[in-house]
Amino acid sequence: MSVAMEAEHEAFESLNPATGEVVADHPVHDENAVRATVDRAREAAQWWGALGWKERRLRLLNFKGALTRGLGRVAELIHEETGKPLADAQLETIAAITHLDWAARHAHKVLGPRSVFPGLVAINQKCTLEYHPLGVVGVIGPWNYPLFTPMGSIAYALAAGNAVVFKPSEFTPGVGVLLAEIFAGVVPEQPVFQVVTGFGGTGAALAGSGVDKVAFTGSTATAKKVMAACAESLTPIVAECGGKDAFIVDADADLDAATDAALWGAMSNAGQTCVGVERVYVVDSAYEEFIGKLTEKAKALRPGQDREASYGPITMPDQLDVIERHIGDALGKGGRALVGGAESVKRPFVEPVVLVDVPDESAAMCEETFGPTITVTRVESVDEAVAKANGTNYGLAGAVFSSSKSRALNVARRLRTGMTSINAVIAFATVPGLPFGGVGESGFGRIHGADGLREFARAKAITRQRFAAPLDLTSFKRDDKGMARALQMVTVLHAKHYKR
Ligand code: NDP
Repeated sequence: MSVAMEAEHEAFESLNPATGEVVADHPVHDENAVRATVDRAREAAQWWGALGWKERRLRLLNFKGALTRGLGRVAELIHEETGKPLADAQLETIAAITHLDWAARHAHKVLGPRSVFPGLVAINQKCTLEYHPLGVVGVIGPWNYPLFTPMGSIAYALAAGNAVVFKPSEFTPGVGVLLAEIFAGVVPEQPVFQVVTGFGGTGAALAGSGVDKVAFTGSTATAKKVMAACAESLTPIVAECGGKDAFIVDADADLDAATDAALWGAMSNAGQTCVGVERVYVVDSAYEEFIGKLTEKAKALRPGQDREASYGPITMPDQLDVIERHIGDALGKGGRALVGGAESVKRPFVEPVVLVDVPDESAAMCEETFGPTITVTRVESVDEAVAKANGTNYGLAGAVFSSSKSRALNVARRLRTGMTSINAVIAFATVPGLPFGGVGESGFGRIHGADGLREFARAKAITRQRFAAPLDLTSFKRDDKGMARALQMVTVLHAKHYKR
């Protein structure tokens, strides 16, 4: 259910970034409107929580069905609000549907009650662990994947039994509103999933509204502001911020596959992907061939808004300045552009840019570019590649291409990131059973998978005493004899020194 313009609200326009045309008007919800929405959500959360696992599963699967039947409409709106090719918008919708399906089907299994063995000391206790909903979850979403990214929180929070208030980006409000409308079609009784629209202030109001958790996706700088607002009320947050993901190419890698994947990871969605490829490290012996294949393929890509375009415009106008600055800085510090260059920024589009010999300290190597640019660096070994890959404050994801399973796995494990794909790119994001999230400035907490469900629930431990304890040590009636037996038992059980 979208929060209607019940009171007189200032309005803002969402625009098609490719054409500048107005897509629709949306209200700017102020602090009062956000609070009223959260109040309504609180009541709805009680109702939704009380529905039980089976009924919630049914409703969420029907939400998924309605979203799938509305795929054409949803994808069209994503295409209009972000400018991305329609096929990419369809792909995004498919990925969101897959996550919704997984969350609906697995919530009970992951979060439902289970018995826990009490251990010998508490053998008289029957122990149960279960996960209860938090209440109301505030989701603050980005514009780059306006459906897929917030769905990673929305689906899992709803499946865990929470009500959700979603604040989409000011660039993509319509997608959020449409999603809530589709949900209300299958859950008309209560405003379990509501949307508030507006600018950063609306997001700030949501963060400070006393919701039970905030799920934020966006820049590290804004995540810090959201965290500060949440600190006032000790509201926990899960933060999915940007990255500077590395792509490592081993000497024996399949270079056709590697160049295809690197290019898709860097340039698809005009490079506006948090887990997009920004830095490539290629082992010396494979470098020349890799560069040859990559530049040839990059030259064939073309941004535009027509059906044949490889990718669309830059959705957020300010980002064009960032991209321009990173290219300029890289070239100014001794880097070379093998494809494109400073002239590639043709607002609102950016043509593909392949940069080499870019110094480690330049902006294009340390800050998130979020554009269709890629830096390629020659390294002596995969060890050097890993060291360089881990050399930023970010730590979201990455990829490694190698013919050696064990070497690839070893590299994947050593990358200080939340996710790594081997011989593919961004593969983990489409697997709903796998957790998604970063370390360092890329954020913390996890969406997706069982960890993603638990992120929106609180663990509840229950013990039930089945019979009086043979050794009752937690009573003022305990005696020295009982304590001596306890000490004897703990010595037998735990004093042993284990030899290798
Ligand atoms: P922001 O982090 O500013 O925005 C993300 C979300 O937070 C939006 O819904 C935004 O609303 C909202 N928001 C803004 N200010 C506040 C606030 N004070 N309190 C609460 N919510 C707030 O990202 P931008 O859209 O400005 O993009 C900036 C950079 O962030 C990009 O260049 C890119 O590097 C990175 N980014 C990373 C993403 C990722 O997937 N990890 C996604 C998007 C951006 P509104 O849009 O209305 O301002």
